[in-house]
Order: sequence, then C-alpha cells, then structure tokens
Amino acid sequence: MSDNAVLVAQRVSKSYYQADREIKVLADVDLTVQAGETLAILGVSGSGKSTLLHLLAGLDQVDAGVISLAGFNLAELSDRQRGSLRNQHVGFVYQFHHLLSEFDACENVAMPLLIAGTTRKVALARAAELLARVNLEHRLDHLPSALSGGERQRVAIARALVTEPTLILADEPTGNLDEGNANQVHKLMLSLAEESGTALVVVTHDQQFAERMQTIHRLQGGSLVS
Ligand code: ADP
Ligand code: MG
Repeated sequence: MSDNAVLVAQRVSKSYYQADREIKVLADVDLTVQAGETLAILGVSGSGKSTLLHLLAGLDQVDAGVISLAGFNLAELSDRQRGSLRNQHVGFVYQFHHLLSEFDACENVAMPLLIAGTTRKVALARAAELLARVNLEHRLDHLPSALSGGERQRVAIARALVTEPTLILADEPTGNLDEGNANQVHKLMLSLAEESGTALVVVTHDQQFAERMQTIHRLQGGSLVS
C-alpha cells in the first residue's frame, strides 16, 4: 500500500444472485485513491459503478478481495466500527439527494455531526458555515421539499463535507440536474475538495466533468481500466 493512500481496493469481486443465477458485477477490481486525489469513474449504466462505491464505503460486503479505508481493512471491523470509520472518514453524495424530508437544510447538514456526538449548538453552527460555502446561507431553515434540485444537491454536498472527511464518494451527483445546475455543482465539488484537501471519487456520465479530475477510470466488463 502506498504511504498516502486513503483508500485501497485489491482484487475486489462481487456478484449478485437472482434465482440461482450468478450476475458477476465486479471481477478483481484494483483501485487506489491518494490523499486529496480527484478521480472519476465512468461506465455505462449497469456496469457496476454504484456497486463499487457501496463496497468502497463499507455499505456492502465484498465476495473476495480487500478494501482498506484510512488503513483499516473493512472486513476486519464490526458493523459498529465500520459505521464509525465511515462517519469519520467518508462523505457520500447520492444521485437523489437522500435528505431527510422532515428536517430543514441546516439540520440535514448537521446530522452526521449529531450522530458522531457533537452538541446540537456546535453542529448547527458548523452546518450553517458549510451551507454558506455552497451558497445556501439564505436557505438554512428550508425543508428539502422547498428547495430546487440543484439546491438539494448542494445541501447533500455540504452534509458530505461537514465532518471534514478524508474522502468523498459521489454516485452520479448531477445525474438528475439540468446542465446549468450540474456545472455549478461540479465546480463546487472540485473547489471544496481542493480547499479542504479531501479526496474525491465521482461516478459520472459527464465526460467534461471527468476530464477536470486528476485521474479517470472506466468500469468495463467488471474491471477498472485507466
Ligand atoms: P451502475 O451503477 O453502473 O448502473 P449497478 O452497480 O447499480 O450499476 O449494477 C450493476 C449490475 O448489478 C446491474 O446489472 C444490476 O442490475 C445488478 N444489481 C445491482 N444491485 C443488485 C441487487 N441488489 N440484486 C441483484 N442485482 C443487482
Ligand atoms: Mg448507479
């Protein structure tokens, strides 16, 4: 493992089973993400991009291979330890924002800190700072239903960054936005990752966005190719 790697995947394989039939999605995938690196994963629909990101975040288990996050082999941790490692090191951004509908923007962003045991006052103050960084300082007490698609994704990005993670994993974060909003979200993600020194792994269909990243990988036939 290289010295500055925040994430290392070695020979990772994963299949799903549908009525006894094996659907092999990933076969011997290797991936290293260095501290602060920006990396795009391209691939057609169904190529296994979401499966890979979920494995990398420890949200699902590999069939074979090893994933190390911040130096810890995920398979050697209990569910609780994995959850706490993820809370500490990983911010996840989904295609559909996954914000909690009954909480306002500020509470949604504060949630990972509250889960980690930060006091409500400190968590909400920190969340407000993050929302200002995604240009939503005027939307703190809006519920997700009162925000536009682009605004919701910016809230989701603020939430992913609030714990100052080592790594952001984003699964087609702009797949659901029009071009103008997508561009704005792309710019924000790149500048915030750079400012905070966070590594960024983004699954995207957007070739132009991918080209702004330091590294581009393609997922094809279950393998990652550069
Ligand atoms: P992508 O994100 O690149 O579109 P996915 O990782 O979502 O691809 O899916 C890869 C393949 O695995 C697809 O063929 C999909 O149908 C299949 N798949 C994904 N999740 C499951 C599941 N829970 N059970 C069975 N098959 C699944
Ligand atoms: Mg997907």
